[in-house]
Amino acid sequence: IPISFNMFSMINILVISMGLISQPAETLSFEPPQNISDRFRNDSQAIDLASTDYGHIIQTKSAAVFYPTSIDDIRSLILFANDNSSRIGIGARGQGHSVRGQCMTDNGVVVNMTNLMNQQKTGLAGIIISQSPALGSYADVGGEQLWIDVLTETLKHGLSPVSWTDYLYLSVGGTLSNAGISGQTFRFGPQISNVYELDVITGKGDFVTCSTDKSPELFYAVLGGLGQFGIITRARIALQPAPKRVKWVRMLYNDFSAFSQDQERLISMNGIQEKDGADYIEGFVLMRQGPLDISFYPLSDQPKIVSLVTQYGIIYCIELVKYYDNSTQNSVDKDLQVLVQGLRFVHGFHFEKDVEYIRFLNRVHYDELILRKQGFWDVPHPWLNLFLPRSQISDFDSGIFKDIFLKQSITTGLIIIYPMNKNKWNDKMSTAIPDEDIFYTVAFLHSSGIQDWEAYDAVNKQVLGFCEKNGIVVKQYLPHYETQGDWINHFGSKWTNFQKMKANFDPNNILSPGQRIFS
Ligand code: FAD
Repeated sequence: IPISFNMFSMINILVISMGLISQPAETLSFEPPQNISDRFRNDSQAIDLASTDYGHIIQTKSAAVFYPTSIDDIRSLILFANDNSSRIGIGARGQGHSVRGQCMTDNGVVVNMTNLMNQQKTGLAGIIISQSPALGSYADVGGEQLWIDVLTETLKHGLSPVSWTDYLYLSVGGTLSNAGISGQTFRFGPQISNVYELDVITGKGDFVTCSTDKSPELFYAVLGGLGQFGIITRARIALQPAPKRVKWVRMLYNDFSAFSQDQERLISMNGIQEKDGADYIEGFVLMRQGPLDISFYPLSDQPKIVSLVTQYGIIYCIELVKYYDNSTQNSVDKDLQVLVQGLRFVHGFHFEKDVEYIRFLNRVHYDELILRKQGFWDVPHPWLNLFLPRSQISDFDSGIFKDIFLKQSITTGLIIIYPMNKNKWNDKMSTAIPDEDIFYTVAFLHSSGIQDWEAYDAVNKQVLGFCEKNGIVVKQYLPHYETQGDWINHFGSKWTNFQKMKANFDPNNILSPGQRIFS
């Protein structure tokens, strides 16, 4: 998506600046205001792009796509939607990497945030790096910017954000509307915990700068707020000195309790200044029936990994990373040794790579390039992402991984599993998380290259059904639900406030209808 989308967007910028874009006002189903009438497109190319997402499951046709060239354009659009008696819905589209139509609108207007990139206009944040005595280093970045671009720019200054997602071709506004999690979350919290300030255009069309001190209600609501309260146009992101390289380790386990206890032990070393701890912890489940991606491991070791998985049927993998720079390059091996000492992985199944920091952070993009070549990128992705409490993770393992998947030889997508510390999350923010000090994320990243997405969806339903029947309290991450009752259940004690914030900041229910929370 990023390549074709950016190219398309650049062509569009050229077309707009050359004044060549057709004025579709007379063909729109509504009468747009004069000052922004040339920002709408409803030709099939624009509509088709906004009618799909990375999930390729939901198709929803918008009335028009809006190509803003400034923050004021977005404000005018929202004010217009509030005035217009038909109350058209507005959905911001960052990179469209949602999987269930969250950034779409049914007969409304999709805002193509990417169009704000590279606009040579004042008032747009772009990516600007600064310092202050109170905050140290930080970056002001436009909500439309990609994390890969934020990384590339900050690295030029020897700096880097601290909290990431596994994949970096996602927009800042898109991930902050969910949470933004990865192997660094145990230590720094999700991306939403690493934001100092936001500029938001609310659903009423107000431009508000908010933080924990200024308009805190809006700040907390927007972070993890699924696009319900406003469109993020700027985020001030915490930065720290960037490491140069990383030691990238994978260790294989044949015993779930050893695996999860070791993961939890590793994430307990989570102080920001904790020099001895890991910088990143994730994990995977490998099953006999697949998928079995062993490309990380040396060729000569691959046969023994395959036979380990075949022998046990199910194997767990801890992925651990330790950053280093010039000042720590002589001690990193020793530190790593201390860190893995006593861990209970299968003897001899410890593998290590040494790569540049950016190569590690951008790792999924390398998979993307391969999958695109094979035609497996733009395919349906019936993903299911869950958060569940630590106290129930072992029931989940035996009930789902072993009793259902292994016994029934069910093929799934890549399964990611790792714990996080609740104290690195701010409970005032909107994201719904389990109520235990440690909770796990389990991600079923199905990709329908081999079987139909409906078959994977049936697997997802089996997982959710098992949890419901056995009292395992799961919250969906990147959620999608059918009814408002499901949403009320999802937000739990946060629902009343979520609803109140909606009434405060988007009383006419205009924003992000694709989430299907209020509409
Ligand atoms: P979109 O899909 O465009 O939008 C998502 C939602 O945010 C919509 O409701 C939209 O209206 C709203 N929105 C978008 N921009 C704004 C804005 N500026 N202001 C307000 N609302 C806005 N997530 C993780 O946390 N960790 C991961 O490791 C991770 N890995 C991923 C890997 C891949 C390959 C993919 C495809 C996704 C991954 N995700 C991950 C999920 C991703 O974070 C979310 O799907 C996120 O929403 C994608 O950002 P986007 O720019 O594509 O958002």
